[in-house]
Amino acid sequence: MESSIFPHPRLCRDDGAMERVECVVVGAGVVGLALARHLALLGREVLVLEAEDRIGTGISSRNSEVIHAGIYYPADSLKARLCVAGNRALYAFCEAHGVDYRRCGKLIVATDDSQVEALRQLRVRAQVNGVDLQWLEAEEARALEPRLHCTAALLSPSTGIVDSHGLMRALRMEAETHGATVVLKSPVRRGRAVSGGLELEVGGGEPMTLQAARVFNAAGLGAIPLAHAFEGARRSSLPPLPRAFAKGNYFSLAGAAPFARLVYPVPPLGALGVHLTLDLAGQARFGPDVEWVDREDYDVDPRRAEGFYAEVRKYWPELPEGALQPAYAGIRPKLHGAGEAMPDFLIQREDTHGLPGLVNLLGIESPGLTACLALAEEVAR
Ligand SMILES: Cc1cc2nc3c(=O)[nH]c(=O)nc-3n(C[C@H](O)[C@H](O)[C@H](O)COP(=O)(O)OP(=O)(O)OC[C@H]3O[C@@H](n4cnc5c(N)ncnc54)[C@H](O)[C@@H]3O)c2cc1C
Repeated sequence: MESSIFPHPRLCRDDGAMERVECVVVGAGVVGLALARHLALLGREVLVLEAEDRIGTGISSRNSEVIHAGIYYPADSLKARLCVAGNRALYAFCEAHGVDYRRCGKLIVATDDSQVEALRQLRVRAQVNGVDLQWLEAEEARALEPRLHCTAALLSPSTGIVDSHGLMRALRMEAETHGATVVLKSPVRRGRAVSGGLELEVGGGEPMTLQAARVFNAAGLGAIPLAHAFEGARRSSLPPLPRAFAKGNYFSLAGAAPFARLVYPVPPLGALGVHLTLDLAGQARFGPDVEWVDREDYDVDPRRAEGFYAEVRKYWPELPEGALQPAYAGIRPKLHGAGEAMPDFLIQREDTHGLPGLVNLLGIESPGLTACLALAEEVAR
């Protein structure tokens, strides 16, 4: 049952005081829910605290819903390892739990000769990461997708799409079936170390305190601010509070999708490029671009369509004028600024920040949706 922590029957003793729980997961996005499920399957007592009145309203509901293969990430990085393992685990989970998905495959395209070398390098990187890609000459790519313009392409058969909300519902259900409790409208305000664990201040107007042996900070865009709100944390170990946000805008296509597979350009620095992705109903959308903004803002400025037409026509020259409609936007939980290379996921434990029992999951940007199950296993270990 969805309710606030005030007063939650699982958490209040007869005298009205709060129970001490073993594990608290902060944030009911795809990462927090995957972690809660994993811990519950291990027999741990788990409480998920979510600030909003529903699960999955954050980054997990504002993305491309692509099951990535693990192509782009540096060898031995967490992103590479957890994406490759997460890809397999996610397909298996979706199959077992009836979550909608499609292994549609994707093409990464060089649209002029100057990009062919970058495509070759991507193939090498993918090989090192253990990802199978097929090199296609232009005519081979066009045999698969006749409306595609490219000079060469890489085919990734293990890329797919997933219903992210269906995934989160299934993760929550399995977590709760194994004893986890998800409590909504319960923002974690701050925390501090106490004997044998951590004390959290939870809630709005009149906050309550709660003790836990372990706290997993999976608060998405709220994770860095929350990490700073733990008394006694080694400040120098924490990324600075974000002053700018890397927004990604999407435009949907009016009319039928031109391709059966996802189509990605050669990636620019810090992003994957304005790609074509499909939803499970076969509708095409393009995005995300990168727009650095100074606050969390999800409005899509229709004037950005101009840049989208230019990018998309590099691989789909026939894109009709007026076919793009503003759709939605997401914000990446970046650990870096404009023009800088993407760092790895950051999992911080006591040895980094100095607080026993606290794990911070920071910078869980793409491929966090793909990697959620593998990330949960990594963190729980
Ligand atoms: C534009 C874009 C496109 C992407 N595309 C893909 C893709 O195609 N494939 C892929 O694999 N990945 C993709 N990603 C990455 C993926 O979406 C994220 O890695 C993933 O959704 C992060 O999930 P999360 O649970 O960490 O964060 P969230 O989903 O944001 O969950 C965090 C939760 O914590 C809650 N919260 C915050 N602060 C507090 C607090 N103090 N107390 C309690 N609760 C709190 C929030 O309300 C939220 O519900 C994309 C990301 C973006 C932005």
